Amino acid sequence: MRSVSILGATGSIGASALDVVRRHPDRFRIASLSAHRDVDRLIALAAEFRPARVAIADAGLIDALADGLRESGVDAEALAGPAALEALASDPAADTIVAAIVGAAGLGSTLAAARAGKRILLANKEAVVLAGALLIPALASGGGELLPIDSEHNAIFQCLPRGYDGDPDRHGVERIILTASGGPFLRTPASELARVTPEAACAHPNWTMGRKISVDSATLMNKGLEVIEAHWLFGAPASRIEVVVHPQSVVHSLVAYRDGSVLAQLGQPDMRTAIAYGLGWPDRIEAGVAALDLAALARLDFEAPDRTRFPALDLAYHALEAGGTAPGVLNAANEVAVDAFLNGRIGFAAIATVVRDTLERLAAEPVRDIDQLLAVDRAARDAALRSIAERA
Ligand code: NDP
Repeated sequence: MRSVSILGATGSIGASALDVVRRHPDRFRIASLSAHRDVDRLIALAAEFRPARVAIADAGLIDALADGLRESGVDAEALAGPAALEALASDPAADTIVAAIVGAAGLGSTLAAARAGKRILLANKEAVVLAGALLIPALASGGGELLPIDSEHNAIFQCLPRGYDGDPDRHGVERIILTASGGPFLRTPASELARVTPEAACAHPNWTMGRKISVDSATLMNKGLEVIEAHWLFGAPASRIEVVVHPQSVVHSLVAYRDGSVLAQLGQPDMRTAIAYGLGWPDRIEAGVAALDLAALARLDFEAPDRTRFPALDLAYHALEAGGTAPGVLNAANEVAVDAFLNGRIGFAAIATVVRDTLERLAAEPVRDIDQLLAVDRAARDAALRSIAERA
């Protein structure tokens, strides 16, 4: 029986993870759950899964949470604030942490889980982009394990040899190939991109996801963040991480080996496959995902990404090559710019412009520690807000 904490339980990944847990009451029990502000959903989930501890990141909502739990007859400890997330992540009562908070807000709890030696099912890619240089050593010193559940990285994990130690050369790995659906604007002319709406950007053709990652998929920044994530998780330099557009989202990613072999992982575009892989690892467990019918699918298409219409991808490669704090600056600026786009303050095409402006304003520094990374994150958010104000 594994004891699982889901940080970001009220989101899209949280829902998929809970769906897999619900299918296996003999294998998993929920130790704790967290949300940011969605108290009602959190209480409903607590009533169903009966965790020992429940946390709300917005500290102003602690009374609403405690009252709601009591009224629902849930005997769980209610906690609040960012420190509560770290407490759940390092709680000895849980052995598995699903890191499903969106954005840099997930960093503290992901790091805490790594230091505490947990099995981390990592969806929160922004934490790795911002602080891969701290997270990977924290995992090694904590003695836990990281199982990527971002579908592309989960696919790569599945295609790498068991015991892969982060050295591509030692294992004959030539390239890591990340597939990208291309998002909802794959065929949208450049002249129309400035006018697309948040609703259109969030209407992903293949995946149902939270709003922030949906916009990232539409700009291809999601793929850029994943390139940086792949660098940290698999030890490959930028020059050996490739992106190919694959509109059907059936091939979730590939690994090319020195002998000419290319291994791919295929499946439905449903996050429950990757989550079930992480929850059950090393066993394979039922995920509720339909079988893949290759004959019905008939074809798989691949093409190079359009780096002119989607400049965010190259911005991410540049940030990875600049190294140090540059990926953190990229991530923070992108979070601010996506929020501004979702709230109607800037157009879609301006997201990449704000990120580029911010990268130009803040020079990369070598990573020293968490305080420095958090200070850089704040400075990048301020710089991005100035860039947005200048364009209003
Ligand atoms: P959602 O927006 O659907 O959910 C985000 C979750 O994080 C919610 O539980 C939310 O709580 C919580 N949260 C938001 N802000 C904060 C904060 N400041 N402090 C604490 N908790 C917070 O996102 P997704 O589930 O789509 O994505 C989660 C992560 O997984 C992201 O990093 C994303 O890139 C990654 N990912 C997602 C995929 C998908 O298919 N959705 C695929 C691959 C990776 P509340 O509901 O209260 O706001």
